[in-house]
Amino acid sequence: MEIQKASYVISSPSYQDCPKPDRPEYAFIGRSNVGKSSLINMLCGREGLAKISSSPGKTQLINHFAIESSGGAQWYLVDLPGYGFAKVSQSTRKKWEKMIEDYVRFRENLGNLFVLIDSRHGPQASDLEFLRKLGSWQVPFALAFTKTDKSTQREVAANVSAFLEMLKAEWESLPPHFVTSAVKKTGRKGILDLIGECNALYRAVADRAQAGTTRRKPLP
Ligand code: GDP
Repeated sequence: MEIQKASYVISSPSYQDCPKPDRPEYAFIGRSNVGKSSLINMLCGREGLAKISSSPGKTQLINHFAIESSGGAQWYLVDLPGYGFAKVSQSTRKKWEKMIEDYVRFRENLGNLFVLIDSRHGPQASDLEFLRKLGSWQVPFALAFTKTDKSTQREVAANVSAFLEMLKAEWESLPPHFVTSAVKKTGRKGILDLIGECNALYRAVADRAQAGTTRRKPLP
């Protein structure tokens, strides 16, 4: 799957204010500075696209981008605010956390959440805690390990497997995971192919629902 068009749509303060859920969407989240904007730009092949989301005033909003990919598929890519903020008041942090929680739990067209993990570090408590919450809410997610060009392959492999080992202790099965670098453009195909598969499933379910509404009356 290839992205053909990507454009900024809107920044929303809550999931209720987001665009009409008329197509599947895929959201990206991670601790601040994890490399989210860089990964989004790399996936879309557009330098500066996610800059809009990181401009002052937009960083704590739900940022929608309209995407058109091969075969004419239309979907939204969503840039969510980072979690694990240090420099804000308790009440502001609570408000942001609630906004993210409501979005991931109740946004009906959310196909998958990509949780970004910095590959330069061992497992971080705030990442593991966030995944635990996703599990309790039954939100489907995948992991994207970022900035893998910054360490040796051996270090990246050690950090990725330490993280997955921690998950294995708590989860019955592991989520899909991708090793990425915005600089080297690694991990792009894997992420876009997963989105392509989710789009196909979404389409099939939508078509079935549509067929259901036009089903013939039962014979007398
Ligand atoms: P965000 O705050 O999560 O959106 O993170 P950014 O995308 O702004 O990245 C934070 C910093 O990490 C910036 O200085 C980026 O240039 C750098 N960065 C992000 N991704 C990569 C990567 O894959 N490789 C390298 N070497 N640097 C990266």
